[in-house]
Amino acid sequence: MIIGLTGGIASGKSTVSALFVREGAALVDADIIAREVMLPGHPVLAAAVQAFGERILRPDGTLDRAGLGEIVFRDPEALQTLNHLTHPAIRKEIKERMNALEQDDPQRLVIVDIPLLYESELDTLFEQIIVVYVPRRVQLARLMERSGMTLEQAEDRIAAQMDIELKRRRATYVIDNSGGLEATEHQVAALLDRLER
Ligand code: ADP
Repeated sequence: MIIGLTGGIASGKSTVSALFVREGAALVDADIIAREVMLPGHPVLAAAVQAFGERILRPDGTLDRAGLGEIVFRDPEALQTLNHLTHPAIRKEIKERMNALEQDDPQRLVIVDIPLLYESELDTLFEQIIVVYVPRRVQLARLMERSGMTLEQAEDRIAAQMDIELKRRRATYVIDNSGGLEATEHQVAALLDRLER
């Protein structure tokens, strides 16, 4: 069984994914795939260099992530160009990996962690989606604590994503991660029980 997992920035996606893995699930991590397509030698990185120039590379030929971030942050058209280059490759890789894992062991739960699942319209890949939810004030506090961002920076990052309340409403299953880790562990165990029936 394949289930998509998402949430907002710092809502606890990695934390909850790790709990599923601890219980035996396989994990596909979209963040890792997104990095892989920008590694030296990958055709997606080559296409990005074609589009934006050598200035997006560091002297050693690896991606200057911060530099590229600066370019697309200021320029919505550039961001769209970048997304057109990267998204199809990321989507294809996600599909291939999750399907291979399911075929390998049809009994095994496959969790696919995609931070921008709804924003990137990848919800169409899944029949079931888990949203890891915390209210916005908890999200803000955890984001600031984890990253050292100022309140304003953290608010900007959260505002750039789809409202977490909207994601919660679209979910098949909601894991409320606003309590302690133990409360979240209980919800994961309960959901696994429900899925096994
Ligand atoms: P995401 O993957 O959604 O960005 P993380 O799983 O990295 O979120 O969690 C964001 C931050 O909040 C991390 O610093 C993490 O340790 C912390 N955190 C996650 N879940 C809880 C929880 N239930 N209670 C307290 N802190 C938590």
